[in-house]
Amino acid sequence: MTSYLFEPPKIHALAVEGETARYPVARVFCVGRNYAAHAAEMGNEVDREAPFYFTKSPQAVLESGGVLPYPPGSQDVHHEMECVVALGAPVFRASEQDAAGAIYAYGCGLDMTRRDLQQAAKDKRRPWDLGKDGEGMAVLGPLTKAASFGAVGAQRIHLEVNGEVRQDARLADMIHGVPAIIANLSLYYHLGPGDIIMTGTPAGVGPVCVGDRLEGKIEGLAPVIVEIGEAA
Ligand code: MN
Repeated sequence: MTSYLFEPPKIHALAVEGETARYPVARVFCVGRNYAAHAAEMGNEVDREAPFYFTKSPQAVLESGGVLPYPPGSQDVHHEMECVVALGAPVFRASEQDAAGAIYAYGCGLDMTRRDLQQAAKDKRRPWDLGKDGEGMAVLGPLTKAASFGAVGAQRIHLEVNGEVRQDARLADMIHGVPAIIANLSLYYHLGPGDIIMTGTPAGVGPVCVGDRLEGKIEGLAPVIVEIGEAA
């Protein structure tokens, strides 16, 4: 039996509707600028040729229903409500059809963002890691199996902060559809079970405050809920 010098990192896993077994998260990929209205509100051009990505460490996962202490080092943490796709089969250099067949489940997620640090990184042409990757900054709801959810289409995606709607769109507004994203990402990674993709946020992103209650919903999926707590 292998011995370790210290306890290996905790596995972050998600509940799956109708299953007792949980879905262990391996990698978290995120798509940038996948809704035209959000790209516009951030002052960016839309690239329809191909999606682009950033990642969050698996340790960034916070399960829905918890408290996210206000992330350190930022004065401007934003919410980004997103549709999350969880893979259930290996995918590498896949066609869109094969990519679609590898989707295990969907969920609601919040790509919490230290906007001030992300903007500073953009200004200096530096990577976004400090803006995007932080403890608890990938808040993920329970998963719903793809067969139960059906095809991605006109489902409403929206976010309420303290009961007030802040983001409101349709999944069909995505520039790059889910199979196209997976097929493209599979040009660069041997994707597989445990890998999840946050597929980008609609317009209406904005700052959160300590004490805020965020509830993100997509028609047909369990919501993602989080409360912003005092900085740890
Ligand atoms: Mn995002």
